[in-house]
Formats: sequence, structure tokens, C-alpha cells
Amino acid sequence: MKYQKETGYLVVWALLTCLFFSPVCVKFIVERYDETWLSTLRALLVCGGLSACILLVKNKIAGVVIASLFMVMTLAELVMVNTFHIFMDIDHYLALVTTTAEESRTFAGSNLQALWYIVPVVVLFAGVCVWYVKMPAVPRGFRWKTCGVCLLVALVGVMPVEKTAQIDNFYSFKAEVFKNTLHRPPFNILHLTKIAVRKIHRMNQTNDFAFHSTRTRNFAQKETYVLAIGESVRYANCSLNGIYPRETMPLAGKQNNLVFFHNYYTDGCTTSISVPMIVTRATAEENDLSYTEKSIVQVFKENGFTTVVIKRGLFNQISSAYLYQSVDYTVDVNSDAEVMSAIDSVSALYDKTFIMFQLLGSHFYYGNFPKEFGKWHPNNQSDKDVKSDSLLINSYDNTILYTDYLLNNLMDTLKNRGMAALWYVSDHGQTITATTGWHGTLCNKDEYHVPLFVWYSDEYEQENKEKTAALRQHVREPMNADCIFYTICGMANIQLPPQYRHEDWDISSAAFTPHPRKVLINGEAREVD
Ligand SMILES: [Zn+2]
Repeated sequence: MKYQKETGYLVVWALLTCLFFSPVCVKFIVERYDETWLSTLRALLVCGGLSACILLVKNKIAGVVIASLFMVMTLAELVMVNTFHIFMDIDHYLALVTTTAEESRTFAGSNLQALWYIVPVVVLFAGVCVWYVKMPAVPRGFRWKTCGVCLLVALVGVMPVEKTAQIDNFYSFKAEVFKNTLHRPPFNILHLTKIAVRKIHRMNQTNDFAFHSTRTRNFAQKETYVLAIGESVRYANCSLNGIYPRETMPLAGKQNNLVFFHNYYTDGCTTSISVPMIVTRATAEENDLSYTEKSIVQVFKENGFTTVVIKRGLFNQISSAYLYQSVDYTVDVNSDAEVMSAIDSVSALYDKTFIMFQLLGSHFYYGNFPKEFGKWHPNNQSDKDVKSDSLLINSYDNTILYTDYLLNNLMDTLKNRGMAALWYVSDHGQTITATTGWHGTLCNKDEYHVPLFVWYSDEYEQENKEKTAALRQHVREPMNADCIFYTICGMANIQLPPQYRHEDWDISSAAFTPHPRKVLINGEAREVD
């Protein structure tokens, strides 16, 4: 009898280990190149150690509660691995806790297949828990002996045996231990919670911050400036590049005062990394500036503009409200089309206006376009059930076509708003295959080479001929998101105090000079070309 009791105990330990290990196992299967045999084995050992610790808890119910907590995190990681082929990172975590209902629906709709992983895991876990609670108590000596051995084995998993974690070129034991435990399931989400709490605290630091910027010129006429941030649009699919055979931006291409830039890179390949670097002075290297200083909204506010943020895209997430702390008004909308009608009314109201927003644009699953914009078939608006390798790319191109239509309407509106300028920049690009699309993990050129264009009204050009000429001179120069903040200030004739100034990064200045471009990947500023 004693032998059976102990065997049951070991089986529970083995099953729990397998369950906690399942996301790593699935990732290994779907992403062989990222997950090595050694790191997968380490994860297995760590999961074994965790299961042993849970079984050491004297009160079985308490043990089950702890195991359930880790199980919930395991399930979240399973969905992540199934969908994005990566473990959850801080952006996904913050997105998950602050996401909009619409994004959740899009996400859930495209991830039903994750149920194939989740349902068996939940059923098995419930069975193991019931069995464990009903199991007779196991002799104390055996419990400690077995668990001691398991913990030792787990420690081997944590120990650094390969020199893979390099921080500032010195070998870091701490980084290695972190990489093998805290950054991986089932501990990953606990670790992310700690980071998220710290991030949210830092967001509250800049309440009293001011740039003390001034205007170099004042204009009697009406002025309207708009910063439009796109979503997931890559340069390669914009027909304004003159190369892409599909005419995805026919209307913008016909606008006279539009300057399209061919060599612009984003600073980060996910929305929550890249957008703060567009709207603040932060760069991949000096990323803290996105928290320690306010955004471009503050600059306009300091110079008598009425500032408006339309809550779409990242700006609709609670964790991103710090990016427009000093704004006068926010507007709630439900679609990209509503963004445009909101601008139409808001820009008519005030004499000096600055408006900022992000579109849902070309967000995966590339369904954000009305059926009549389904120019390329089959696409996932009208031919959802058709199996075709070109379905995703067709749908993606249709979303760009729709964005082109909306932005063209916006430019037509701004023609009647005095001295007006529009900056359109995509947050990051997209890697698209026949079966899926994503961004953030590879951070390849498809993801960081994105469109940027500047449009201005005739009234604007009349007063700022040097600036518009400089813009046109720089269309082929290498530049990145570092330049947006300074270009907007420059074009609006706003001067920052010397400690914040960077005229060589202002594309509308004759002093503009290209600088090395860095993308923030996994917390590291990596130079790209
Ligand atoms: Zn994005």
C-alpha cells in the first residue's frame, strides 16, 4: 500500500511538471529556431522544481490554490505561444490589462484555435487537483526526500551553463538566472506584473514638467496641426514608394503638397514601444525620456494651442494616458472613420489647434476596411471562407487602401483650416506570411521600414517656403522616429530651450543631418541599416 501512495504522489508531481511545461513545449514545436534543446530542458527542470515546491505545502487545498495561480499564467502563455510564437512580454501584458473591447474581439476571433491546447490542459489539471486532494497523506520523510531531489534538479536548470546572456559585454550571472526562470513560463507573468507596477508608478512622475518652449513666429491666421499615427503599415506595401505594383495609396498620391519619405525607420517594432518614441523626445538609447518628460502635446499647449487627443489605437489604453497628460480635450470614437469626422468638427472650433491620434489601420487580422474597399480578392471581408495563400496580403493591402481614403479626406478637410500641416507616420510594419501576420519578435526590415509623409496647406507653404523646400530635399535621406518630435516643433515654428533642442534632427530644417538609426529590441538599442 505504501508503495502505491508514493507512486501516486510522484505521478501528480510529473503531471504538474508537464502542465507547467506545456507552453515551453509548444513553443519548442512551433518555433524550433528560437528554442534550443538546452533551454527547453532547463525549463522542464525549473517546472519540476516548482511542482515539487507546491507539493511541499502541507495544506493540500493551499497547494492547489497556488498551483491554480500558476496554471492561469500557463494558459495565458499557451495562448501567446499559439498566436504569436513568443512568451508574453511587457507590451502584450500591458495591452492585455488595458486593451479595448474591440481589440479583444479581434484577438479572440482570430485565436479560437488556441482552445485545442487549452481545453485538454484545463481538464487534466482539474483531474490532477481532485486526485491530489483525495490522496491519503504521504509519509513526511518521503515527501521531503523526493522534493529535495527535485529541487536540486531544478537548481541545475537555473544554473548558467552557457554564455548567452550578455549585458554591456560582461557576463551576468543574474541575467542568466533571470533568463532561465523569471522570463519564462510559468514565472514570466509574475515577473511582468512587477515591471508593470513600476511602469505605472513612473508614469505619474511628470505631473509638473514643462519644456518652456516659445514660438519663433506668430501668425494672425488660423493654424491646425495634426499628428496621425498609422498602425502596422509597412513601407513595402505603400504604392507611394513608386515600386509596389498595387496602387494602395492612389488618393494621397494625387495630393499636391504631400512629401513622402523613402528611408524612414521606426524606433521600435511594437505599438507600445514605438508610439512613445514618436510623440516624445525618447529614442531607443534614451528611452526613459518617454516617462521623465511630457509629449509633443505639452509643447503645443505651452504655445497657446487647444490640444485634442482622439482616443483610438494606443491612446485608448489606460497605460498610455501619460503620453497626453496635459491635453485640453480627449474625444472617444469607435472607428477610424469617426476619427476623421471628429477632426472635421474639432478643427473648425478653435483658432489654433493641435490634434493627435492613432488609427486601428492595418492591425492584424487585417479586417479594418469596409467591403467596398475590398479591391483585392480573396480578402477577409467578403471571402473569409476562401482558402488562399494571398488572402492575408490582399486584406492587408485593402486596409492600406482604406487608410489612404481616410487620410485623403482629412487632407481635404485641412485645406479649409488655414495654415495646416499633417504628419502621417506608421508605428511599425508587419511580417506577413500565407497563414499569419505579426510584428515585434523578428523586428526585421518589414517591421521597421515604415511610411512617413508630411502634408501642408497652401497657406502653410506661403509662410514657410524654406521649411517645405527642406522637407523635399530630404525625401531620400536616412531618418527615424527620433526626428518626428523635432520636425513637428520646427514646422510649427516652436523653439525648445537649448537643453531640449536638436535642430539636426528636424527634417524641415536645412541643418538636418542623418544619424545612426537604432531600434529598441528586447530592451537593447540595436543599430539597423
Ligand atoms: Zn502597432
